[in-house]
Amino acid sequence: MKVLVPVKRVVDYNVKVRVKSDQSGVDIANVKMSMNPFDEIAVEEATRLKEAGTVTEVIAVSCGVAQCQETLRTAMAIGADRAALVQTDAELQPLAVAKLLKAVAEKEQVNLVILGKQAIDDDANQTGQMLAALLGWPQATFASKVVIEGETAKVTREVDGGLETISVKLPAIVTTDLRLNEPRYVTLPNIMKAKKKQLDTLTPEELGVDVTPRIKTLKVSEPPSRKAGIKVADVAALVDKLKNEAKVI
Ligand code: AMP
Repeated sequence: MKVLVPVKRVVDYNVKVRVKSDQSGVDIANVKMSMNPFDEIAVEEATRLKEAGTVTEVIAVSCGVAQCQETLRTAMAIGADRAALVQTDAELQPLAVAKLLKAVAEKEQVNLVILGKQAIDDDANQTGQMLAALLGWPQATFASKVVIEGETAKVTREVDGGLETISVKLPAIVTTDLRLNEPRYVTLPNIMKAKKKQLDTLTPEELGVDVTPRIKTLKVSEPPSRKAGIKVADVAALVDKLKNEAKVI
């Protein structure tokens, strides 16, 4: 059984991004980039399935600029067997990524795709769902537990106020939630080993995919800054303000 794990190169979650002065987006020049955290969880899960003997091969794939190779090397240091970069300098939106991933999933004949539930840069939460629709495969989103039993995957999902367990027939799409696992620490020997693993490069044209953006960003703005608080004399004054000014009680 082969697993495909799409990994996105995003601004590191510790970086405080700044909006560009023309409000066209955020400034990513000279900013630390890393693997999307939910994708690290996806690579870890696929690696654990391989270590358990359930899966035979884990293939990492990234779509984007040449530097995504670093992200793919990290995926291989965690445990992916090989990787593919769909290289383009074009802006990629979720629908375009889903089409590219569909082409790779079909080319590689995979039985399972494990993606992050969401990329922390665009917060779209769309790619996995679109990929499932394009492939016509079942999807189990926001997974906090994955068990493969023969031809099916039993997936526990995080839903409002609880957990839901579903069973999907393979081939299927799974998207990872935060509590699925804790990704391992990447060791130096594994980073060295990853340098020797196979990394293929493809292009959207080779895969026959038109990646032209369908969405236009009109404006990106900072959240409003928080107003300073005030001190009140006593509880009665606080209650009065909550009732008459804030109108919350
Ligand atoms: P999104 O729909 O943009 O929130 O992304 C959801 C998931 O799709 C991510 O966690 C990745 O697993 C995958 N994904 C999105 N964009 C890319 C990309 N450019 N390359 C590889 N995987 C991606």
